[in-house]
Amino acid sequence: MPTRHHKVIILGSGPAGLTAALYSARANLAPLVVEGVQPGGQLTITTEVENFPGYPEGVQGPEMMVDFRRQAERFDTEFTTGDIESVDLGARPFRLHSDDGELTCDALIISTGATARLLGLESESRLMGHGVSACATCDGFFFRDKKVLVVGGGDSALEEATFLTKFASSVGIVHRRDEFRASKIMVERARNNDKISLLLCKTIEEILADDDGNVRAVVLADTTGKGSEEMACDGVFMAIGHVPNTALFRGQLELDEKGYIVTKPGSSYTSAEGVFACGDVQDSIYRQAITAAGSGCMAAIDAERWLESQD
Ligand code: NAP
Repeated sequence: MPTRHHKVIILGSGPAGLTAALYSARANLAPLVVEGVQPGGQLTITTEVENFPGYPEGVQGPEMMVDFRRQAERFDTEFTTGDIESVDLGARPFRLHSDDGELTCDALIISTGATARLLGLESESRLMGHGVSACATCDGFFFRDKKVLVVGGGDSALEEATFLTKFASSVGIVHRRDEFRASKIMVERARNNDKISLLLCKTIEEILADDDGNVRAVVLADTTGKGSEEMACDGVFMAIGHVPNTALFRGQLELDEKGYIVTKPGSSYTSAEGVFACGDVQDSIYRQAITAAGSGCMAAIDAERWLESQD
């Protein structure tokens, strides 16, 4: 397979990667976007997005990512689908290997995102977007006066449970232990909220659907061996952490203790000159489409200026 060279390669095609593509294409850098195994990123597993400015009526997540892609395509962006198996960031041009051959580039923009950790149940993936969600900020609004469960015992779970009480009639926190990993203040806030109940030493064994294919109940198992029971609910929010998609870069870029790429504050510069990172792969805090898109714009501008400085 011949080696193909591009000035800029962008890894990942969520809001960060496609915004980086739009900006670098308009800067005449003719970027190549490698779409990866989940083209469009995490937004393709959400339903309606109502908090992305510019869509006053809201938009379906997958539809919004089609719009993002079309806008990047309008300028000179090339797309390829493939799984990059290894990268060599030790020398320039950077080398990326896939089973399709080798790609090289002068500047690399990494926007490989993060993946919500899931329980791994078949019913969980089948009902994703039909009552199962991994993002309370995105989907909480659709559960007005409904009964929901949040799975997890960390700050995210406690924060999301409190957030969901703005909409839901009741929120149960399902946690596998009787102690929380979350900070004391978050736990206290949840305990003091009349709408929240704590379902401790429980795990979800199965999620059950009604005839329309929407969540109607879960089977809760007791982790101390007291058997299992069915519990009615309309929604289940997974909040058991996220995993940044950085396995490819381990040992080549500085990562923080949770595995996120470290960027120089206020920029997209990583520890390797010529490699830039944007979106959730370098953000464990905000994780929103709009912040990812903004950081994609930063990465394209940083890459363009860096390439100019090399010429
Ligand atoms: P986390 O702290 O890693 O907590 C994950 C939770 O999910 C843990 O309680 C864990 O249980 C549970 N869990 C993991 N795998 C599970 C499984 N397979 N089945 C059932 N339960 C499972 O993740 P996070 O809550 O997303 O927080 C990530 C980081 O962001 C933390 O440093 C957190 O402090 C920070 N954060 C801060 C704020 C804030 O300050 N406002 C808000 C959100 C997040 P165990 O406890 O039993 O391991």
